[in-house]
Amino acid sequence: MMKQNPIMRLCISCRKTYDRKDLLKITKDNKQGIVFQKGMGRSAYICKKKNCYSDSKIKKKLQKALKTSFEQEFIEIFEKEIASHNV
Ligand SMILES: [Zn+2]
Repeated sequence: MMKQNPIMRLCISCRKTYDRKDLLKITKDNKQGIVFQKGMGRSAYICKKKNCYSDSKIKKKLQKALKTSFEQEFIEIFEKEIASHNV
């Protein structure tokens, strides 16, 4: 039986690598703007450890990783998205 190797990505907060499907992907899509778990363009990943997604510096790190600056509106969407992934 063939076992598929997981695609590993770096969490921008703790700088550890995880299986991509266990991470929250944030993409600066060329057409749609900032999207979660989809889109094409510059992307960053955050793992689901509370220390990472609730880090007070996470938004700064994300903005740096995506080379963009977030509107207040995005920050609210981000917080909702993070809360919905909180398992
Ligand atoms: Zn992490």
